[in-house]
Amino acid sequence: MQQTLPVEDYAQREELEGVEREVLERRLEEGLLATLIGRAIFPRYAFPTDVVGFWVSRLKRRGDPAYKRIFDYDPQRDLQIALSEYAPGASLTIDKWRFSSAALFSPYVPDVNLILDRAKSYTACNACGYVSLQEAAVDAASCPCCANTELSRKDFIIPQGFASDINEKREADKGQAPDFAGRASRAQLEVQEPPEVWDFELYDGRLAVIAGPRNLVTVNKGVGDRGFIVCPNCGRSEAVFGTGYPNSIMFKGGVPRQHFNPLEQGVMCDGRAIGPYFFGHTFLTDVMLLRVRVEEPVVCAITTTAERSGRPGQVALTSFVEALCLAASNTLQIEEGELSGNWCPVMGSDGRDVHVFLYDLLPGGAGYTKMVRENLESVLDETERLLSGCTCESSCYSCIRHYSNNFLHSSLDRKLAYSLLRHLRGGAIPELSIQESKTSLAPLADLLRLQGFQTQQEQVRDNVTVPLIISRPSGEEVWVQAHHPLVNELAIESPFREAAEAAFVEFCSLDSFMLRHDLPNAFGKLHI
Ligand SMILES: [Zn+2]
Ligand SMILES: [Zn+2]
Ligand SMILES: [Zn+2]
Repeated sequence: MQQTLPVEDYAQREELEGVEREVLERRLEEGLLATLIGRAIFPRYAFPTDVVGFWVSRLKRRGDPAYKRIFDYDPQRDLQIALSEYAPGASLTIDKWRFSSAALFSPYVPDVNLILDRAKSYTACNACGYVSLQEAAVDAASCPCCANTELSRKDFIIPQGFASDINEKREADKGQAPDFAGRASRAQLEVQEPPEVWDFELYDGRLAVIAGPRNLVTVNKGVGDRGFIVCPNCGRSEAVFGTGYPNSIMFKGGVPRQHFNPLEQGVMCDGRAIGPYFFGHTFLTDVMLLRVRVEEPVVCAITTTAERSGRPGQVALTSFVEALCLAASNTLQIEEGELSGNWCPVMGSDGRDVHVFLYDLLPGGAGYTKMVRENLESVLDETERLLSGCTCESSCYSCIRHYSNNFLHSSLDRKLAYSLLRHLRGGAIPELSIQESKTSLAPLADLLRLQGFQTQQEQVRDNVTVPLIISRPSGEEVWVQAHHPLVNELAIESPFREAAEAAFVEFCSLDSFMLRHDLPNAFGKLHI
């Protein structure tokens, strides 16, 4: 233990001053804990390893040691959560006081430059969800998964802690909800070449499974994905709110300005903010990776192209992942919130494959993903039950909504996820019922009537009941059908299309997702 701890330095601590002494004392306290865990005197799981503090300094009083900062509060959080709750600009309540986070700070690493020097590059594709921290990815001209050429690149730093501004007057909490300056994403898997060998395949290869430790990334991109700027002198940081933002402390009219050092009482700082940066976290944990492979005519596009919107595929996958986590909690008695998941694109699969993954939220992993892998069939049975056994339109608290996925509620659609899962397990090709088709075309028919078009629903033409008929002013008709958003409508037979072709009538097939969520676009597709 003597070798791993700074014991000898500590014996001479009286000769050290200020920050150096403070750091040494803290290192010893920390090192002692790490050593005790390392020697298995304390169990590892009892001490989360990726924890950071929110440091609230106390104003100096007479008799305080000159070299040492004293903190009134230093709540700690797992970095994944701290990235949202403690990020600069966020406010939180501690002991009836409301504090705003103002700086990157840790008494263990008092020089913020050490944190900034360790910045990594973060490359992401907003079209398909590709993410990489590899330096080589920075130079890529386009996304290796979907070929989109608009990649977003920012420097990515891993905060060691956050602090409030000692110079700010304390405010009593009035029961406000906490504020956030950007939210940390669900963890993302760094996209690499897909595994060559899987643990096992199911359902004619439509699902493949592999479990093991993998590196995940969570990131807070700030407000509007603009990142955070940081003063390298004092650690003060703020979200970039866009040009001319009047409440900026570090800029006025685009010009850097003096600001209070948030850690020193009454001291101004001339430092110039740099950045913007994303704040993030990478961690190794147990991951169960599922390869999802749909077969023609089913599509699960996640990238929007000229032909097809990726939104239904994204919503289906997001809903599937949420249901899968809940189902795993239900069947395996895993506490809610200890298992999470996400999906990501696959390199070199031409959009045919998507990866879905579940991960342990407990630091270091608690073996839950292995349990899911071993009981996958029963977890998938429960997932089907959750997705199909509700009466709501898209999602509700009785099926796949819960408090901790509230930021996803608008992206949850149990029926889409159910269609996807039924296809994966049994090869079923999703289709709309007559009622669903009618309901999805109704708002379009209303809009057309408002625009002065004559419309008829469910009228018989040439022995088929056409879902929607629009009459142009010239008297010509356009026949319209609604199709399932996870199906390539050109790859399946449609009695309406065939009848329309035979009668030389214009025909248009619209997907029910667009009809529901983007009526103007659906209207535009009619070209009338
Ligand atoms: Zn992409
Ligand atoms: Zn500064
Ligand atoms: Zn429901």
